[in-house]
Amino acid sequence: MAKAEKAIKTIGVLTSGGDAPGMNAAIRAVVRKALKNGLKVMGIDKGYQGLLNNEIRPMNAKDVSDSIQMGGTILKTARSEEFTTREGQENGAKILKEHGVDALVVIGGDGSYRGALALSHLGIGVIGIPGTIDLDIACTDYTIGFDTAINTAMEAIDKVRDTSSSHERCSIIEVMGRKAGYIALWCGISSGAEEILLPEKYDFDEQKIINHIVGIRKLGKTHFLIVNAEGVGHSVSMARRIEAATGMETRATILGYMQRGGSPTCKDRFYASVMGAMAADLLTKGVINRVICFKNGDFTDIDIDEALAMKKEIPEYYVEIAKDLVR
Ligand code: ATP
Repeated sequence: MAKAEKAIKTIGVLTSGGDAPGMNAAIRAVVRKALKNGLKVMGIDKGYQGLLNNEIRPMNAKDVSDSIQMGGTILKTARSEEFTTREGQENGAKILKEHGVDALVVIGGDGSYRGALALSHLGIGVIGIPGTIDLDIACTDYTIGFDTAINTAMEAIDKVRDTSSSHERCSIIEVMGRKAGYIALWCGISSGAEEILLPEKYDFDEQKIINHIVGIRKLGKTHFLIVNAEGVGHSVSMARRIEAATGMETRATILGYMQRGGSPTCKDRFYASVMGAMAADLLTKGVINRVICFKNGDFTDIDIDEALAMKKEIPEYYVEIAKDLVR
């Protein structure tokens, strides 16, 4: 386990990549636990881009008041092309050192961890906290924001399902997930979708879906629900083609950014609070270059290099269940 060469006195915290409900609970926990442990905390606005723009300020306990119930991130977030370059990373490390920041807590997805890893090679100790609605970080079974996002999406799907049922329609509902289909899989199973299209699995054979609709209609089914992931896309044109081929009125609904917003669920607030506190505690003990995760039913932490080398796959059994539960 990597240890800091000298005692950590000041830590920084930032959110990076896509925002996720629950990030505020994590920031709050990092700030308050670190202060409680006697550390100084600097908040960095707008992720790595804000770091490069010197948007750094001290944070006190009050700065995170009234934020635990809010969606989004009070520190704002951004994606930064500049920070992916060696020059950008060296500049980032220099700015942190100028502000006396010994170690940095990065709340984001695995892209953000890669940025953190680069900083760790430049003398800044780092701790990653999994913050993404996509659940696509291999080292952890939970990521901050996923629970809120799937509940938001599921409620929306239920509403579309009601009208789809009344009008005997086929509905295609597109949920977020460019490369990862976890939101689609969980929401698809939880809303009883007849088809779930995952970027990791979909073979683009639309005829199979059409045959499925035709077959199921012969058995008396009057509505048909397809949950499609953003990474598969083409929901609107797919709807047109399915309607033409089956004669069943077909509509596409793209849920979009609504899935990112909203007040975090209790689960997201709780897990984010524990993870944020753990990050502050690790740094207080001088432990650096770790990622906090939830694995096999418990909170833990692993080396950031190891975390980034891991691969995550959609569990085959869940995909099988999704098919088996449809009649
Ligand atoms: P999400 O899952 O929400 O997309 P993410 O953290 O994976 O979150 P990215 O856009 O991949 O989101 O990464 C966030 C930022 O981290 C990037 O804009 C970039 O500044 C930095 N970053 C990403 N990849 C690297 C890398 N290989 N090296 C250094 N920095 C990186």
